[in-house]
Amino acid sequence: MKLASLGTADWHARAAALRFETRHFIDGRYVDSIGGGRFTVVNPATGQPLCEVSAGGAADIDSAVASARRTVASRVWSRMAPRDRMAILAEFGRRIEANAERFALLDTLCMGKPITDMLTIDVPSAARNFAYFAEAIDKIEGVVTATASDAFHYILREPLGVVGCVVPWNYPLLMAAWKVAPALAAGNSVVLKPAEQSPLSGLLMAELFVEAGGPPGVFNVVNGLGESAGASLALHLDVAKIAFTGSTEIGKQMLIYAGQSNMKRVSLECGGKTPQIFLADLPDLDTAVTYAINGIYGNMGEVCNAGSRLLIDRPIAREFLARFIEKGRSAYRPGDPLDPKTNLGPLVTAGHRARVMGYIQRGKAEGARLEFGGTEPDRPGAYVEPALFSGVDNRMTIAQEEIFGPVAAAVEVDGIGEALKVANDSKFGLAASVWTRDLNVALKTVRDLEAGVIWVNCFDHGDMTQPFGGYKQSGQGRDKCLESLLSYTQTKSAWIHLG
Ligand code: NAD
Ligand code: MN
Repeated sequence: MKLASLGTADWHARAAALRFETRHFIDGRYVDSIGGGRFTVVNPATGQPLCEVSAGGAADIDSAVASARRTVASRVWSRMAPRDRMAILAEFGRRIEANAERFALLDTLCMGKPITDMLTIDVPSAARNFAYFAEAIDKIEGVVTATASDAFHYILREPLGVVGCVVPWNYPLLMAAWKVAPALAAGNSVVLKPAEQSPLSGLLMAELFVEAGGPPGVFNVVNGLGESAGASLALHLDVAKIAFTGSTEIGKQMLIYAGQSNMKRVSLECGGKTPQIFLADLPDLDTAVTYAINGIYGNMGEVCNAGSRLLIDRPIAREFLARFIEKGRSAYRPGDPLDPKTNLGPLVTAGHRARVMGYIQRGKAEGARLEFGGTEPDRPGAYVEPALFSGVDNRMTIAQEEIFGPVAAAVEVDGIGEALKVANDSKFGLAASVWTRDLNVALKTVRDLEAGVIWVNCFDHGDMTQPFGGYKQSGQGRDKCLESLLSYTQTKSAWIHLG
């Protein structure tokens, strides 16, 4: 039976029958925590416990890093013929796709994402990610430089060694894939620390890597809390790089850990407060409004580049807001994430919902107008009704801080001059968009926006060639793209004197 034709009852039956691992995956085997500790994962759609997972600490991280380190020393992965590594990573990607049902259930049960989003976005994107980096493996070349005739100078690209990946819960499989795929493609060995809210899909990933022919010990997974497992990994002396996606606060902490330990490389994909600029001459109002709605309410607003600030040109502001209110108040309805028709699941935890509700209170208290939503629906689970604030001043808390929930803040602006000032008046700089028919304005706006990812007359479009990452406190480093692959390598220069 095709997954797309399954109904809610089918998905519940499959969820009930699902068997999954809850231990760490080290050196190609499932093992319990050395200290024996466990932590509970709660299904946010029901509030009920889902399972208990091994809670890793320093000793488990040590064991996983030692296992990865052995494969670095033996060169079983880094010196494997590129064609063979390509074949294994390509097969790994196919196995991720072939296990779509299990991945969809694991992430949906842990963090509440609609199952349809898993099947149409997370799983195929993760698989494509492995295909892309697998294809790139034998396209990375060293160089011979121009020197005087008494020397021959060449530059090699070599893997770093052991890479630690620390990832969040909003796209558990996909965010892990963004780090693990280029790290492995470049010939490194990996220790992945998934978010404690969504620890299961990473384990299945690592198991499939070995099934695809990956050598045991090259890809290890240790679960556990950030302040124990995550910190131990980031402080480890044998870890050459930490690839992190998560909050700006913990991203800064990662830089401290690097300084306190071995000055390991750190790449950071952190928070955002993405502005979408809608100018009066935009090509089509309905299209723009639809993108505005999807850009903030998709994935419950738990998206680093969520279009959370709507900067609307004054001449169209009234009409834009009227249409946003009309369509947006009912476009995303709270529902059972296992119902394939649901497009809005719960937030990841009750604690995160309390945080989001706090921001909604703050928005009202600071004088923004709540046009709709922002309440807790009368059903079990950590749900919040999608909300729109109008009359927002960009200095308000809801325009400055990342809410990471389905809350849009609309700011009226006078033309592109003010729009740019407001857009850049943020500590973040992950993404931005501008909607206009004027090519000159579009190009100048691209030039003047302080953000790593810009869209013109669209939002959230792109493919694997697009560097993804931020300016300012949205981080440093880029995911996807060839630059990402190179960031998991280091150069070695060899200068040969010719006598
Ligand atoms: P978080 O920073 O609290 O956690 C992310 C990861 O870091 C988790 O695995 C967690 O266990 C670990 N961690 C937490 N504290 C740690 C510590 N002291 N030492 C080591 N590791 C630690 O983030 P969150 O609240 O779970 O996730 C949401 C955040 O992620 C948002 O800010 C969002 O913008 C960001 N995010 C960014 C991107 C991007 O590409 N820029 C993508 C997705 C999510
Ligand atoms: Mn956190």
